Amino acid sequence: MPDSSAEHHSTDVIIVGAGPVGLFAVFELGLLGLQAHVIDIMDKAGGQCAELYPEKAILDIPSRVRITGQELVNDLLAQIEPFKPGMHLGEMAASITKLESGKWRLTTDAGTVIEAPVICIAGGGGSFTPKKPKLDRLEEFEGKSVFYSVRKMENFRGKRVMIAGGGDSALDWTVNLNPVVSGMSLVHRRNEFRGMQATVDQMYALVKEGKVDLQIAETVRLNGTGGKLESVTLKSAEKGEYDVPADVFLPFYGLTMKLGPIADWGINLEANKIPVSTETLEPNVPGIFCIGDMCDYPGKLKLILSGFHESALMAHGCFHYARPNQKLRFEHTTSSSSIQAKIGVSA
Ligand SMILES: Cc1cc2nc3c(=O)[nH]c(=O)nc-3n(C[C@H](O)[C@H](O)[C@H](O)COP(=O)(O)OP(=O)(O)OC[C@H]3O[C@@H](n4cnc5c(N)ncnc54)[C@H](O)[C@@H]3O)c2cc1C
Repeated sequence: MPDSSAEHHSTDVIIVGAGPVGLFAVFELGLLGLQAHVIDIMDKAGGQCAELYPEKAILDIPSRVRITGQELVNDLLAQIEPFKPGMHLGEMAASITKLESGKWRLTTDAGTVIEAPVICIAGGGGSFTPKKPKLDRLEEFEGKSVFYSVRKMENFRGKRVMIAGGGDSALDWTVNLNPVVSGMSLVHRRNEFRGMQATVDQMYALVKEGKVDLQIAETVRLNGTGGKLESVTLKSAEKGEYDVPADVFLPFYGLTMKLGPIADWGINLEANKIPVSTETLEPNVPGIFCIGDMCDYPGKLKLILSGFHESALMAHGCFHYARPNQKLRFEHTTSSSSIQAKIGVSA
């Protein structure tokens, strides 16, 4: 039975991956009048730039003498804003099927369904996948009381939440979820945190106000029945083993990158990369394109600027799938009044 509450969208191009390349692809498609929906398993846009090196300086973006990973992502988001892409963050692009109409139907693990004549894979090094804690009976609680991302803060309203970890995600959610939960504990093995100092300070302020119960301990066991969590057993040198009540456990132990469901989409793969034509960035399946770190061709460089160039070629290459009855006109942004109108600027 189809889920009638699931979101259903129709667009020109579905972009899998909201890394720098997937974001710039929205812009290149927008210049040609093509609308895009973007999906990313991460709860924020930016791919490797945002997740792995937000504060590091990138020195080889053309014309930008120095820009941090996060600044680049912020600028890309501002640049695509006029094209109003559909953004589906915190969702894994799970499966695709070809419809009789010739369009693709992509379904996410959250049940969102998007149909389009074109899928553009900008999956980079693969989907970011959470590192899981080594706890017995973990699977029994996963998706019911144990979650690796916060898709909707409302889902945690009034709950007693335990967050585990010492990095940015653990600290950000300790601060951001605090106003909606009925109780919050943060457990970390050491009394040292790797997150941004400002967020570390905010967390300690909440501890001082009695709004966060900070536990320097290790997680030992999940307690409850039928996937319903009741408490988490912790262990420290001082206290030994002890239980802390919790309805929800959110372990934020970092991420690894895995190819994920794309491996099952019938696309040729070589060493987890998708070989494409250098002309249009198409692999072996018509209507599917691949750009950025995940694509491969002779001479491919895994650089952001290569991905930007591939975005432009992909947009031109896929136009005829989305607009079979229209002729594609090549235009410069400096001189095209129709492009300027789309972006909302005048030359
Ligand atoms: C430490 C470090 C420093 C770097 N420095 C530079 C530099 O100075 N200059 C430079 O040009 N490059 C640099 N790079 C490389 C650069 O970050 C990558 O080339 C770039 O991020 C590739 O962009 P992308 O959009 O193709 O992929 P990514 O940034 O990897 O983004 C891909 C996104 O797709 C998502 N995804 C994948 N599969 C799915 C799925 N099935 N469903 C939902 N989401 C999915 C992932 O979660 C991810 O967010 C650096 C990389 C690292 C690690």
